Amino acid sequence: MSTSLQAPAPPKSPSQRPSSGGSALCPRCSGPFDRRSATCPSCQFSLATARQAFPFAAPPLDFVVDPARFLPEGAIEELQAPYHALQARFPQLALTLALLKLAPGTSPREFAFWWFNDAPGGSEERQWHLLLLVDAQSGTLCLTPGYALESAVLSRPWAESLSTTAATVVSQGLSEALRTFLTDARTLLDAHWLQTRAEQASPPDQP
Ligand SMILES: [Zn+2]
Repeated sequence: MSTSLQAPAPPKSPSQRPSSGGSALCPRCSGPFDRRSATCPSCQFSLATARQAFPFAAPPLDFVVDPARFLPEGAIEELQAPYHALQARFPQLALTLALLKLAPGTSPREFAFWWFNDAPGGSEERQWHLLLLVDAQSGTLCLTPGYALESAVLSRPWAESLSTTAATVVSQGLSEALRTFLTDARTLLDAHWLQTRAEQASPPDQP
C-alpha cells in the first residue's frame, strides 16, 4: 500500500483562514496549494474541479465508513476504545476511518479532498477533523487534516506512521492497522502539543 498526506480543505470564510496564511499541498499535483483562492496555481485544481468529478452528495464523516464491510465482525467496537482514549486527551478531535473501493482511476487524494470539504456538518468543527481514507482499489492510504491539525499532521512522524499503518494492513490486517494508527495518533498529537507549548513558553531571543 502507498500513502499520502494531503492538503486540508480550503477555508469557507475569511475568518477561518489560518493566521499564518501558508499553503499546503495540492491533491492533484502536490504543488503548493493557494488556500486564499482555493485553487492550485500550478494545475488549477480546485474544489469546483473536484465537484465536477464527484457530482453527488457527500456522505457524513462518521467515525467508521465501511459500506463494503472490509472490517470483520466486531472490529468497529474494538476501535471505539482507542478512539475514546484519543478523544479523552483531545476532546475537540473527530476522526473518520473510511474503507472504500473507489472507481478505477479515481484519485484517492482528490476524492478525500472533495469529501472532506463537502460532507455535512459545520466547518468550525471540521478544523479538528482527521480523515484517514483507505482505498482498496489503488491500495492507497490518504490522510486529510482540518486546519487546526495541519501543522501537527503534515509532518515526517505522521508520514512514517502512515507508512507503518499501510504495512500493517498488509501484514496483520485492517483492524490491527487501524488500532495501531489510533494509538500512534494520540502519541504523535501529544508530542506535537507538548513541543508547541514548550516553544510558546520559551523566552524571546536575547539581543
Ligand atoms: Zn495542483
